[in-house]
Amino acid sequence: DISRFSTAALTEEEVIIPPVQVEHTQLLINGQFVDAASGRTFPTFDPRSGDLITHVAEGDEEDINRAVFAAREAFDDGPWPRMTAYERSKIIYRFADLLEKHNDEIAALETWDSGKPYEHTANVEIPKMTRLFRYFAGWADKIHGLTVPADGPYHVQTLHEPIGVAGQIIPWNFPLMMYAWKVGPALACGNTVVLKTAEHTPLSALYVSKLFHEAGLPPGVLNIISGFGPTAGAALASHMDVDKIAFTGSTGTGKIILELASKSNLKAVTLELGGKSPFIVCEDADIDKAVELAHSAVFFNQGQCCCAGSRTFVHERVYDEFIEKSKARAMRRIVGDPFKKGVEQGPQIDKAQFEKILSCIRSGIESGATLETGGERFGTKGYFIQPTVFSDVQDDMAIATEEIFGPVQSILKFKDLDDVIQRANKSRYGLAAGVFTNNIETANTLMRSLRVGTVWINCYFVFDAAIPFGGYKMSGKGREKGAYCLNNYLQVKAVVSPLKNPAWL
Ligand code: NAD
Repeated sequence: DISRFSTAALTEEEVIIPPVQVEHTQLLINGQFVDAASGRTFPTFDPRSGDLITHVAEGDEEDINRAVFAAREAFDDGPWPRMTAYERSKIIYRFADLLEKHNDEIAALETWDSGKPYEHTANVEIPKMTRLFRYFAGWADKIHGLTVPADGPYHVQTLHEPIGVAGQIIPWNFPLMMYAWKVGPALACGNTVVLKTAEHTPLSALYVSKLFHEAGLPPGVLNIISGFGPTAGAALASHMDVDKIAFTGSTGTGKIILELASKSNLKAVTLELGGKSPFIVCEDADIDKAVELAHSAVFFNQGQCCCAGSRTFVHERVYDEFIEKSKARAMRRIVGDPFKKGVEQGPQIDKAQFEKILSCIRSGIESGATLETGGERFGTKGYFIQPTVFSDVQDDMAIATEEIFGPVQSILKFKDLDDVIQRANKSRYGLAAGVFTNNIETANTLMRSLRVGTVWINCYFVFDAAIPFGGYKMSGKGREKGAYCLNNYLQVKAVVSPLKNPAWL
């Protein structure tokens, strides 16, 4: 029913969109909004309809050069790395207060540009982003080196210094969450930043970065470039004056980033890449709870999560019941306009992803998996896809090995723990895993055996600020969030000086 997709066709109580307008469409360089050097712009679309939202300045190599120059000056000569850590933390705290104040407008802009349900952006994502900035503000004045022992009469200390200019490239599936994961630690450690947003979702980062300047951030410390990967992104990854690059996106692009970094100045690289995460339902599990958790582990955010639990492994004794209930749950999933109350699933980000997902679904059918429900476009407008469930999925089918990045659940049957451990680990990815069991021995065995960066036991998608996140194998390099991520943005300097007549060594 097309009326479900058009905000205009909804009654007032159904629509929860707060007034929002696009205020910023230019690049943010050295504290100023400016046009791209080329004068070019690109369109950004509303995924609910494919309609144009606005045109945005299209940054390329020349703009990256301008932004890196500003960030370099701000690092080499500006106040940011030189002010006390407490002063830095106060600015980040003030920014968090502004995020809280403008929570609903920011959430609406994010939903408009990305198609995420507004109830989630407003009640979960933006509050979580605020929490992340407060967490990193708290770290700013707790970063320090050590005094270390020497074999002779020397005083030896380490200084933990900012690394310099951080280049950051983020994807479209969590535009502001990825902004927080990257900008938060970089600035708390005293670095300056050039961040390239994803071409699908350029709007929210510009809006919040304006607020950061209102909070007192000096010019040049945070520069935002909208633009495309092979032009702006590649220029950033290969820039000789960028000291570190942090990337989130596909594994293929991650390899390119690593290559560009090594061919240029060997800048430090952290990567957060794709996954094909197993969600394991053991025979002792409470089936109703397992069905619900496995459902949200794959369908959350329209299935567009790097750590989606996209291989649902179910013990053979509970398999048939699990399939029936998972199918029923997917059929109850509320798909529709993401600004409408109660909507669980909005549109996919764009036409290309929409078509890629539909072609993955066709490949599942052709390879012999059983299509339990869904499989087609939802409605006739925008990029909505029916919640789709496959059973009888085999390990070597593309729907069990490739990242689909859409609302598609692939359910596989397993025999025993040895079987599922071996099959869950048989992936080039190792981002996350879910384990659903009431047996502590089973939980302990799986938790130790799975070669992944996060194991969620009887829960999924718990993303607190202090919990480190990152991948084993081809899912990435390094960790984000938590104390672990600070090292990505720090250098260690050893300082050694002789001691005359030391009282002790
Ligand atoms: P992508 O990796 O191409 O894009 C991510 C970011 O990298 C964007 O900002 C993009 O502009 C930039 N980029 C692209 N090519 C670049 C290059 N040559 N040099 C520097 N930067 C470059 O991802 P995508 O094309 O938007 O999505 C494709 C697939 O990637 C999805 O279907 C999904 O499987 C996966 N993906 C994973 C994540 C994740 O969080 N792990 C996020 C988005 C997409």
